[in-house]
Amino acid sequence: MQDVLIIGAGPCGLSAAIECNKRGLSSEIIDKHNIVHSIFLYPTHMQFFSTAEMLEIGNIPFSTSNDKPYRDEALAYYRKVAEHYNLSLSPYEEATSIEKQADGSFRVHTRKRNGVESYREARNVIISTGYFDHPNYIGIPGENLEKVTHYFREAHPYAGMKTAVIGGSNSAVDAAMELIRVGAEVSVIYRGKEVSENIKPWVRPQFESMVTKGKIKVFVESRVTEITETSITITSLDGQEQNIDNDFVLAMTGFRPDRELLNAAGVELDDDMEKPRYHPETMETNIPGLYVAGVIASGRNANEVFIETGRLHGRLIAEHLVTKL
Ligand SMILES: Cc1cc2nc3c(=O)[nH]c(=O)nc-3n(C[C@H](O)[C@H](O)[C@H](O)COP(=O)(O)OP(=O)(O)OC[C@H]3O[C@@H](n4cnc5c(N)ncnc54)[C@H](O)[C@@H]3O)c2cc1C
Repeated sequence: MQDVLIIGAGPCGLSAAIECNKRGLSSEIIDKHNIVHSIFLYPTHMQFFSTAEMLEIGNIPFSTSNDKPYRDEALAYYRKVAEHYNLSLSPYEEATSIEKQADGSFRVHTRKRNGVESYREARNVIISTGYFDHPNYIGIPGENLEKVTHYFREAHPYAGMKTAVIGGSNSAVDAAMELIRVGAEVSVIYRGKEVSENIKPWVRPQFESMVTKGKIKVFVESRVTEITETSITITSLDGQEQNIDNDFVLAMTGFRPDRELLNAAGVELDDDMEKPRYHPETMETNIPGLYVAGVIASGRNANEVFIETGRLHGRLIAEHLVTKL
């Protein structure tokens, strides 16, 4: 039986596996897709806001000739690190439930890509399932139309189209900038007074310049309240409504971790029913031997944990696990 089964091969799960292996613990990682699937789903040409150094795991240098690395460099980096450490990884195997056994070990039920159900047993389990599979839905009429997406990949399909971007974060601003480069008509709708203060500092001036020039139309303190095949309704916080013509909606409203695995395993959640209860120095939940690492450890604001911080959880867990040997 393995010492540790890690569910989710994102940067934080990979880091946890490395830290465990370094301390002589045997580990195995399963992922319902493939390694660092969330980064694979990022916009194709995305540049990180973090420096390469802050994304490093396992003490392996991440070098780039750019100020900040791009998505494809990060994909290559994490693949290489997993290979370097010879991590035991089973891709396309989803954890469906976690069961604590009488002897204190765990049985994790899984489903493979071909639908075959199976299980794995381990003395300890780390849940590092991230958040990228679960967008924050707005809950408005028309959100389920085919023209609406919560994942922006590339601007090309939107060339010459009337496009609305919902949100005021880096994802929304990056998407708006790419869209105008392909000649899309771009409206950004955001409920705040102005776009996030965390916008990448090298992107913000370009974005503001495009807004000043009228190339990007910004509706602040406003929400999209309805989407139809040909239009969207924008409602300002003071209740004014306007309809604008629209071909596509990019809802860049962020993501939230799925708590189902945690819930079903009996992990207690904090009062807002979002954040798992865990010891901050060990990442162990109320279930002995069951740990959280990465974004899954965050509360309602999923952005409180990111790669820079979540990559450090693995070390805390591994250090705690060795004290139990
Ligand atoms: C566009 C964008 C840009 C970003 N830029 C930065 C940045 O510059 N710097 C930074 O630090 N952070 C950045 N982030 C945040 C960062 O991507 C996340 O914080 C990070 O991916 C979290 O890592 P993780 O290992 O916790 O989870 P993830 O990377 O989400 O990995 C979770 C893995 O678990 C797998 N999984 C899920 N459910 C199951 C299951 N039931 N069974 C098996 N496997 C499962 C998934 O397939 C996935 O591979 C960015 C995020 C986005 C969306």
